[in-house]
Amino acid sequence: MLHILKCQEGHYTVENECPKCGAKAILPKPPKFGLQDKYSEYRRKIKKEELKKRNLF
Ligand SMILES: [Zn+2]
Repeated sequence: MLHILKCQEGHYTVENECPKCGAKAILPKPPKFGLQDKYSEYRRKIKKEELKKRNLF
């Protein structure tokens, strides 16, 4: 499983070292990865389902 890492300069990479600046890339801390994100994803799913239904009917 690939982890998306983030270097000190803010580049995202899956390498341990940032290919852009060569800095060490670490797992970004997700301080607000709680319920809010789950809900927004849930809402997006619902919206998608609604759009599908509208296309079908
Ligand atoms: Zn970088």
